[in-house]
Amino acid sequence: MQMKESQFREIKELLLRLTAREGSFYQKKFAGIDIAGIKSQEDFERLPFTNKDELREGYPLGLMAVDEQEIVRIHSSSGTTGTPIIIPYTRQDIEDWALMFERCYRMAGIDESDRIQITPGYGLWTAGIGFQNGAERLGAMAVPMGPGNTDKQLKMMMDMKSTVLCATSSYALLLAEEIAKRGIGEKICLKKGVIGSERWGERMRRRIAAELGVQLYDIYGLTEIYGPGIAMSCEHECGMHYWDDYVYFEIIDPATGQILPDGTVGELVVTAFRKQGAPLIRYRTHDLTRIMTGECPCGSPYPRIDTLTGRTDDMVKVKGVNIYPGQIEDMLKEVEGPSSEYQVMIDHLNGKDILTLFFETEYMDEKKSIEHNVKKYVKERIGLTIVPKAVPIGDLPRSEKKTKRIFDNRY
Ligand code: ZN
Repeated sequence: MQMKESQFREIKELLLRLTAREGSFYQKKFAGIDIAGIKSQEDFERLPFTNKDELREGYPLGLMAVDEQEIVRIHSSSGTTGTPIIIPYTRQDIEDWALMFERCYRMAGIDESDRIQITPGYGLWTAGIGFQNGAERLGAMAVPMGPGNTDKQLKMMMDMKSTVLCATSSYALLLAEEIAKRGIGEKICLKKGVIGSERWGERMRRRIAAELGVQLYDIYGLTEIYGPGIAMSCEHECGMHYWDDYVYFEIIDPATGQILPDGTVGELVVTAFRKQGAPLIRYRTHDLTRIMTGECPCGSPYPRIDTLTGRTDDMVKVKGVNIYPGQIEDMLKEVEGPSSEYQVMIDHLNGKDILTLFFETEYMDEKKSIEHNVKKYVKERIGLTIVPKAVPIGDLPRSEKKTKRIFDNRY
């Protein structure tokens, strides 16, 4: 992605400010780098990445890039292991975040007339309060529920006639199922669902949309970079628009750190160049996505990333080629015959890595030719020779939750 002149200018100013600040995180990190000498996007791209572990080492307030008097709030990433990360916010950061969040709602056609039921958690985590501030800035009526208590959740949804549900995909599914089970669909006024972006199956998506009778929108963000609200899908459901006047996105090969061409899937790296409390430069998100090329039919000038394909931790390397679940799914979609269910087995036999791709198909009588086409397509697309195995529909294990697709038996 070509960096805009305005982005470069703001990033350069930020770099100078951060490295001039005595004892700051980036003064230490970029010690010995000629920041004043950064004259182009290419120079910027030579700066080292920022990693989550470094943020942890800064616990609790090592990332703070302004005087403490300017900090009005902190949030913390919900790290499952070890030390959490604390992100300090200035008043301006909070306002900027709410502004971006308002854009997200508007991108989904949500406006002042909507009643927004917010089920993500409030507190140290950025989710609930982000949805809340965005809704208030928009001028909609927020119904701040937080997670859990399904009875109360459904009662409020009916009594308040909520028109928008903000939830994780799993909680949206749970609510959809409860609504169906209780036969209260008639009393539900939902029109739209705003779902935190994660890799979730097409089947689950269709089920939630159908049960709730809503159109679903993906929202993206992470606590380290404001929180949810830095990218949002529009009604055309072709990726998520991101706010490039606040964040700069790069896509890299997670193994080598090389920047990948637009359209290629890799790890998302974010620079939050307007943040004050804790700006991050080239922060590795470990989320897999790609920059989408071309214009969106909605006409928005904001660029797009694809819905997330997975996490770099789900990625495996076979014969020097990176493989991740979403990529396999995408390739199977391109070939006639396979359904969306698949499983990958990677084994090491006689000194060689062997990737066996099991996929379901309705057309078992054409098994041989479908297998041939899948093998040929994968070879063309990613240069890897695989062993294709077509199986009848229903043969592979499935679950509504995250299904493990890749089994690496090499180690
Ligand atoms: Zn669009």
